[in-house]
Amino acid sequence: MIQLFIPLNFLGFVYREIRRALTDLENMLGLLSRASAIQDAPDAAPLVLQTGRVEFKQVMFGYHPDRAILKGFSLSVPAGSKVAVVGASGAGKSTLARLLYRFYDVWDGVIEIDGQDIRKVTQSSVRQNIAIVPQDTVLFNASIRDNVAYGCPTATEAEIAEAIRMAQLDGFIAALPDGDQTMVGERGLKVSGGEKQRIAIARVLLKNAPIVVFDEATSALDSKSEGAILDAMRTVAANHTTLVIAHRLSTVTDADQIVVLDGGQVVEQGRHEALLKLNRRYAQLWAMQQRERLEG
Ligand code: ATP
Repeated sequence: MIQLFIPLNFLGFVYREIRRALTDLENMLGLLSRASAIQDAPDAAPLVLQTGRVEFKQVMFGYHPDRAILKGFSLSVPAGSKVAVVGASGAGKSTLARLLYRFYDVWDGVIEIDGQDIRKVTQSSVRQNIAIVPQDTVLFNASIRDNVAYGCPTATEAEIAEAIRMAQLDGFIAALPDGDQTMVGERGLKVSGGEKQRIAIARVLLKNAPIVVFDEATSALDSKSEGAILDAMRTVAANHTTLVIAHRLSTVTDADQIVVLDGGQVVEQGRHEALLKLNRRYAQLWAMQQRERLEG
């Protein structure tokens, strides 16, 4: 019996490892296939980064030719500042992040980084300079440490530990039996939405790109988790050009500039207090979310 058990057990192990490798591969291919839809121009040169200023100028874009999502959208994100985009669900906020990362090209208008049209420079140089905290972070079937270091193979242990600390993951990790070697992903420890976001923030800190885009998750977080994410976001925003695609307005009250996207265009722009005083779209969104918070 035992003679039969050992090979079966071994086969089970091999099966699990193959499944794991395939899941990782699927995740990777998912990311890569999306990324390869756009080609470099034949004469594309690398982006020459100066300060990390981002500009959307009169951008027109839609996913289908008969339905424009952005209709002359303009936004300036000065180097080192934190700018937030808010608006109703489906307004096109996340689309801005996809366009900046060049998953798609604009129909008309231009997106510039430090005055250079992103269609005229190499995609790899654009992506090197932008780090995204996505709405839904993909975790690989690997340790937390490897998930944080993903995309930064040259990072030192000290750099990884620092990113973990700045993303406020250290307390969470310290409470786990295997610490940062704890396996996560589909076959490992299930982590909460807030913890996933902090793993994504740690990745971003490690990548240390000058431009950071937070594409906030739509799902509500408990206030402790939201507080930890806010602190981690502030650490990032302190020394990067930051664009926040905001679903929860409470995370952007400290932004240098908040723009309200409606009907494919910017309809209001200013700081939190000024927009509340204006008592129009932003004030409505704010009141609606405050009500939801109280009821939820
Ligand atoms: P939410 O707050 O709900 O995340 P959003 O403002 O970020 O919304 P986007 O994700 O930018 O909105 O989507 C804008 C519009 O484009 C929506 O109507 C959406 O259904 C549509 N859309 C988004 N992605 C695609 C896609 N890949 N193909 C076709 N339509 C899409």
